[in-house]
Amino acid sequence: HAKGAGRNTWQFFTERMNESAARHFELESSLRVALAANQFELFYQPVIEAGTRRVHALEALLRWRRPGLGLVGPDEFIPILEESGMIIAVGEWVLRSACEQAVAWQRQGLPAVPVAVNLSGRQFAQRGLAGTVRRIVEETGIDPALLELEITETTLMQSGGHTLEVLEQINAMGVRLSIDDFGTGYSSLAYLKRFPVHKIKVDRAFVRELEASAEDRAIVAAVMALANSLQLSVVAEGVETEAQLQLLREHGCELAQGFLFARPLEAHQVPELLR
Ligand code: C2E
Ligand code: MG
Ligand code: MG
Ligand code: MG
Repeated sequence: HAKGAGRNTWQFFTERMNESAARHFELESSLRVALAANQFELFYQPVIEAGTRRVHALEALLRWRRPGLGLVGPDEFIPILEESGMIIAVGEWVLRSACEQAVAWQRQGLPAVPVAVNLSGRQFAQRGLAGTVRRIVEETGIDPALLELEITETTLMQSGGHTLEVLEQINAMGVRLSIDDFGTGYSSLAYLKRFPVHKIKVDRAFVRELEASAEDRAIVAAVMALANSLQLSVVAEGVETEAQLQLLREHGCELAQGFLFARPLEAHQVPELLR
């Protein structure tokens, strides 16, 4: 019996493995055609100035409109784009599309609002990143001051020796840099000071339980103190309630992004938001 049970367990295990391998393979092959088939889309979520409720920036968030299956979020496919290297081409498409969109909104007479684009570690590891950014800025005609690039704290910490050089080249173009998901990546203060960064985005893990957790409030207070001394602006991510916003403001954090204000919107919904 023991042997039989063992074999069944093994069989179950391999079937599950095959299932997930098959699913992965299917996702990867569908993703290979997604860019050429125009299945990617950018949604935009505002960062809000708490005092005025004005839009401070718009973050571009990638979506995949998968035929027959609806909208797929980035957490489900970015890892596959990264490990297959497809993120380089898709990331370039994201950057170009966000810049083109920002220019188009401005030409429509809408208020000029910076657009923020997420970069993955893989894009960052490329030596040509600064050149790609420069080319896209020139070709789209976006004012570089209206472009922000977001890099997660983890990416920044893991990236190689040329990182500082790439960031400085990007910074020299007048494009701004933000550290995303801040607080999850164990950065040292010395590190932060070394990079030409303008903004930190406090991960929503610290916002979620702000009301209940004295520890999370202490972390927010420490981040605010750090940011003030380094002259960085701070955005709180994942703000869902007025109570969270209130606590953030009490700690001096005036920029917030989250479902309290708006979910990520389709591009056509943005003009109404900006007016
Ligand atoms: P992120 O850059 O930290 O973006 C914020 C994420 O939090 C978005 O998820 C957004 O929809 C979600 N969010 C915003 N407000 C709230 C809230 O109040 N509550 C909750 N629960 N969630 C909120 P999304 O769009 O699924 O994106 C997930 C991550 O995927 C992003 O995290 C970013 O790291 C990555 N990503 C998105 N677009 C791109 C892209 O174009 N390129 C790369 N490399 N990564 C991207
Ligand atoms: Mg981001
Ligand atoms: Mg984030
Ligand atoms: Mg994130």
